[in-house]
Amino acid sequence: MNIFNNVDTWKRERHSWQGTATSLGFVPTMGALHEGHISLIKQSQKENYKTLVSIFLNPTQFDKNDDFNNYPRSFEKDLSLLNELGVNYLFYPSYDELYQDNYRYSCRENELSKILCGANRTGHFDGVLTVVMKLLNIAEADRAYFGEKDYQQYLLIREMAQSFFLKTNIVSCPLIREKDGLALSSRNLRLSSAGRKKAPAFYRILSSTLSLKEIKKELIRVGFKVEYVEEFNNRRFGAVHLENVRLIDNVPHK
Ligand code: AMP
Repeated sequence: MNIFNNVDTWKRERHSWQGTATSLGFVPTMGALHEGHISLIKQSQKENYKTLVSIFLNPTQFDKNDDFNNYPRSFEKDLSLLNELGVNYLFYPSYDELYQDNYRYSCRENELSKILCGANRTGHFDGVLTVVMKLLNIAEADRAYFGEKDYQQYLLIREMAQSFFLKTNIVSCPLIREKDGLALSSRNLRLSSAGRKKAPAFYRILSSTLSLKEIKKELIRVGFKVEYVEEFNNRRFGAVHLENVRLIDNVPHK
């Protein structure tokens, strides 16, 4: 696997085979890779000739320093996983490389980004959209892959790509769960073993036939701190906190 830290070096490689039939799939991540990320990478490999993965823990999308500082990092393990999977390229930039403007410029959406995960996390989706816009412009991929684990994020990115006439096709991939129903997330690594045992109740309760009010009550009774549980676009979305770890999930809902 070829590793790039630098935008210009990657662009030279990208342009050396641009215009040929070689298609490129792109999977942006924040590292601490798990089966959820792997499913996106495999889908990209199935649909494209080459696959580029990025690892960048994006500080501008964290509203709390604590969450950023405690976010799991496992670069060496990620590297060997990407090599095993046969990924062609890794983009692994520094903050200064990606934010040469030191975040003077940003992308913002004014409706969907203000509800659900955006309601209590000021600037979160500005950070997400800005870094994804940068990465999509750098990658120049034919397709970019995003997980339905972060469904609101996927919708915002898809609509941003349409609004700015980006050339990359935005592809959504199914949410991958543990056998017990817990949505895979890098943050799960921060749960204690007792917390890890309790966490699957979030999905169980969210996907039950209870009303929104009853769901909130039940989540609190079981021991979660509820940030929100809401319905939007025939889906039920939720965010809870357990042992200071933030968990999100969403399920289809008629
Ligand atoms: P992250 O590293 O958390 O920024 O995630 C990178 C990409 O992987 C995003 O498009 C996520 O939606 C996706 N992803 C993370 N967890 C899962 C999961 N459990 N199932 C499917 N996709 C996921």
